[in-house]
Amino acid sequence: MKKKFIAGNWKMNGSLAANASLLQALIDGSQGMNCLAAVCVPAAYLSQVQSLLVGQSVFALGSQDVSAQEVGAFTGEISAGMLKDFAVRYAIVGHSERRQYHSESDSLVALKAQRALSAGITPIVCVGETLAERDAGKTEEVVKRQMAAVIHTNGHCISEIVVAYEPVWAIGTGQNATPDQAQAVHAVLRAQLNAASPHADRVSILYGGSMNAANAAKLLEQPDIDGGLIGGAALKAPDFLAIMAAGSLTPSGRSEL
Ligand code: PEP
Repeated sequence: MKKKFIAGNWKMNGSLAANASLLQALIDGSQGMNCLAAVCVPAAYLSQVQSLLVGQSVFALGSQDVSAQEVGAFTGEISAGMLKDFAVRYAIVGHSERRQYHSESDSLVALKAQRALSAGITPIVCVGETLAERDAGKTEEVVKRQMAAVIHTNGHCISEIVVAYEPVWAIGTGQNATPDQAQAVHAVLRAQLNAASPHADRVSILYGGSMNAANAAKLLEQPDIDGGLIGGAALKAPDFLAIMAAGSLTPSGRSEL
């Protein structure tokens, strides 16, 4: 059985003091949990969080982005090699906030995933439709197009990625996709990945979008939901720990990561 994977996306939140107390509470409260977990922190705090995670084995370190470039004159960018220096295991790529506010295209997201993979970092590839796209009946078309770009660029190592289905209308709104809505899209993505690689059952497909302590169990019960990417609730230790506890109850029926 594959363990559920619960990843926190802290977005542009935190401070040296707040990070230290949040992580201490997470480490103290996560003893005995039977799930995988990560915290994807602002780049400025990678070094601090790397130090705070030493000596524990529950939480892996993640970044919220990675450059599509390897090295050179790209002011403000952070390369996969630099992330690797801080023991980063996961890099979120293609978050809807990056697609929306930084005009990241499907092909750029695919290149970012490729750059992460070549440095030995697992990209958490985010896909998801806007409310207008859902209302127009285009959800499947949109997520398949976003996924296809990543498969096209990373074909032979597609089984090494993590996917996060994050409907844009559910992110930070308090309005999560229902378990049935999420499961339907996850099944589409699962089929697309399976068609691309015989090893795609290793890919965890996370749900993200207003997942919280109250709705996590029902979402994580769905057969194709392998974990969660958590924004707001990742900033409160009791909430994140409750989601981890829900993830610890229901391992997915696929092989170990
Ligand atoms: C996210 O930003 O990835 C996210 C899922 O946010 P929230 O949980 O706050 O909706």
